[in-house]
Amino acid sequence: RRRSAGEVVFQQAVEEVLHTLGPVLDRHPEYADAHILERLCEPERQIMFRVPWVDDRGRIQVNRGYRVEFSSALGPYKGGLRFHPTVDLSVIKFLGFEQIFKNALTGQGIGAGKGGADFDPAGRSDAEVMRFCQSFITELYRHLGEHTDVPAGDIGVGGREIGYMFGQYKRIVNRHEAGVLTGKGVGWGGSQGRTEATGYGTVFFARDMLATRGQDLTGRTVVVSGSGNVAIYAIEQAHRLGAKVVACSDSAGHVVDPDGIDVALLREIKEVRRERLSAYAAERPSAEHHAFGSVYDVPCDVVLPCATQNELGEDHAAALIRNGVLAVAEGANMPCTPGAVVRFREAGVLFGPGKAANAGGVATSALEMSQNAARATWSRDQVTDRLESIMSDIHAHSRATADAYTGDPDDYVAGAAIAGFIRVADAMLAQGIV
Ligand code: NDP
Repeated sequence: RRRSAGEVVFQQAVEEVLHTLGPVLDRHPEYADAHILERLCEPERQIMFRVPWVDDRGRIQVNRGYRVEFSSALGPYKGGLRFHPTVDLSVIKFLGFEQIFKNALTGQGIGAGKGGADFDPAGRSDAEVMRFCQSFITELYRHLGEHTDVPAGDIGVGGREIGYMFGQYKRIVNRHEAGVLTGKGVGWGGSQGRTEATGYGTVFFARDMLATRGQDLTGRTVVVSGSGNVAIYAIEQAHRLGAKVVACSDSAGHVVDPDGIDVALLREIKEVRRERLSAYAAERPSAEHHAFGSVYDVPCDVVLPCATQNELGEDHAAALIRNGVLAVAEGANMPCTPGAVVRFREAGVLFGPGKAANAGGVATSALEMSQNAARATWSRDQVTDRLESIMSDIHAHSRATADAYTGDPDDYVAGAAIAGFIRVADAMLAQGIV
């Protein structure tokens, strides 16, 4: 606590994990003896740096960049970069800490890290974003490498930003090191299906949870928060599996569309035109835009929070429960507050935590690294099949672990954290005090 004084969301993420680990430490005193938890809470390395750049009006701008390399026990540091004005060390540490357990849960050889900057890409021209990305990577490149640290996207970092950063990295090191970043364009080293992977995976996880109660997504009403990368492809996959997504949101409000969100129009507005969600309602006769109120007031069977941390609080959970929600799968990282999670669990709502439910993105990034290392290109079907089986494994493993350690297979929060923890802890024990 002393070392992370004031880092509120980081402490929240740590506490959530610590609450679940009691039964493991009781059964495995060797983990406590080796101070595994204390070591996991302290990142292996934290990098903070100045990112100076020049805007379109010729003014000098200064941002702060971060990369927190949390754990290399299972492989190169792996985790996204977030560009958003709310980014600070606490946010990056919380995300990096989550990544330890999530990446372990995928069963792939990837360690954990996270990074970003307090840069706000909203309203910036392509040229400004490019200059920012080039300056960012001009400092960060020395810490990266396909065997060392492999960033990807997150909020505010998509294919455009990864492209600019990859170009600058290649120029500095004078080497085409395809595996140094994931989320690349499919024409130059990216994997088919990576863009869709997190959202698709979250829906597969929701489907698997429902199946444990003999239910499915067909004919279900779904609400998704956010309208970025994760949200868009969660909506697309939910529709494919027979559900109807009737609402989504951005930071300026939400839309309700009783006919079901039109994914092609949403993609055009968000991915191509980079406009607000209000533009969707303006062009879609069945939709209504709400600048006030919450997307979680819209009645539904399944909720997929896909925007940001702590966006779904206790009051939202209470409203969703009143409206009969059956399942919640977190596409975002820690979108539900601890109080909301307790409410869902007490009400018997199936709850899939982000560590498990959104792990499809990083799992597919690991598939991209495999393809890069082998100079191979897999088909979209190959990647999606692998994603689906990885998500089923994560679901089954989380459930079995929860059952073994808590006696309640529905306790996915404990199951995911414990399963990830054991894999990392065993690797740390084997590798000695490092
Ligand atoms: P994007 O930047 O593509 O989209 C983020 C979306 O969330 C936007 O619609 C944004 O609205 C909205 N949003 C952000 N902050 C807020 C806020 N404070 N209130 C309401 N809406 C908000 O990011 P991603 O889709 O990539 O990431 C979303 C979440 O998923 C994050 O928690 C991320 O860590 C997590 N995640 C992402 C993965 C990936 O592969 N991309 C993998 C695993 C997890 P606006 O445009 O108005 O800001």
